[in-house]
Amino acid sequence: MISPLPHIDAMAPYALATIGDGHMVSMAQNESAFPPSPYAIAAGQSQLSAATAYPDPDWTALRLAIAETHDVTPETILCGTGSMELIGCLIHAFAGPGRDVLGTEYGYAFVATATAQAQAKYLCAREVDLTVNIDRVLDQVTNTTRIVFICNPGNPTGTMIANSEILRLRDALPEDTLLVVDQAYGEFGDGDQDPRQIFALADRGNTVILRTFSKAYALAGLRAGWGVFPPAIGAQLRKLLNPNNISVVTQAMAAAAIRDQSHLQKIVADTATIRDRFAANCRELGLFVPVSKTNFILIRFASAAAAQHADSHLRTAGFQMRGMGGYGLDDCLRATICADEIMDSCFTVLKEACR
Ligand SMILES: *Cc1c(COP(=O)(O)O)cnc(C)c1O
Repeated sequence: MISPLPHIDAMAPYALATIGDGHMVSMAQNESAFPPSPYAIAAGQSQLSAATAYPDPDWTALRLAIAETHDVTPETILCGTGSMELIGCLIHAFAGPGRDVLGTEYGYAFVATATAQAQAKYLCAREVDLTVNIDRVLDQVTNTTRIVFICNPGNPTGTMIANSEILRLRDALPEDTLLVVDQAYGEFGDGDQDPRQIFALADRGNTVILRTFSKAYALAGLRAGWGVFPPAIGAQLRKLLNPNNISVVTQAMAAAAIRDQSHLQKIVADTATIRDRFAANCRELGLFVPVSKTNFILIRFASAAAAQHADSHLRTAGFQMRGMGGYGLDDCLRATICADEIMDSCFTVLKEACR
């Protein structure tokens, strides 16, 4: 028998949403309700015949597009096959035995998985009212905490904390503790607070900010994420990234997508309108829905049994939401916002299930 490393053997496989048979409406993975920019599609098609060559290992055109959009220096940007690759490499570079990772109660599940891969200990700070609480995070920091992960806006809660709270956390953390701000849903909250305040934290040398093309840019299938990294941290990460990570087609599509900010703004605005109406309808049914700044909402039912009842009702009708048992929220379902008509028919089924 070939024996695996004990810490790998002890890991459970990462639990993605159970995908239906293709006839279900997918509301389980926070994919976009809307198609990507037509310029992205055109850019991808025009690059298909360039696939003979390896991709640009420095993502030059993509970095420039990101840098110009967000007013950051291109050299500080690194790109990954989804932000998952960047999260995994950060943990492998800076955490390990005796070097702990601290997340929050409802933080992104993949962080705990990557921590286990690195044989590091994962700890989490309680949240308050389904919202990250900086005082509780600070309470959990010890002298073995090496990385703190804050997801803002949060997944699966959808809630967002003020930039000033992130700044307060950074000021209070030890200088040699790496802070990672995961803004996978950042574009949905950018209208509320100035994102440059957070990107500027990379200048301090100990903070990384992550974003992705998977959510608001509607390109989850491409696998492209990016982040702003202090140079010394970026240099370490480069050693762990696959040197040819992002395909020729993906780089071209992502660059075209981020240059089309008017398309992005329309997706963000339309998603918010549909989301807020669906959330208001759910609240009228007596369900608890925290205020979301993302493309999904968390729906809390009266009990785990009520959530399960609604879930099976919804599945029978072809709507696949995400059960939240893995997050200790077994009385909740998370619903990705889809097109208007879908949300309307979904709500009809939900209403029926809640009677
Ligand atoms: C979707 C998501 C990501 C990243 O996904 P990629 O597709 O790998 O870029 C990261 N963090 C959170 C919280 C997410 O929801």
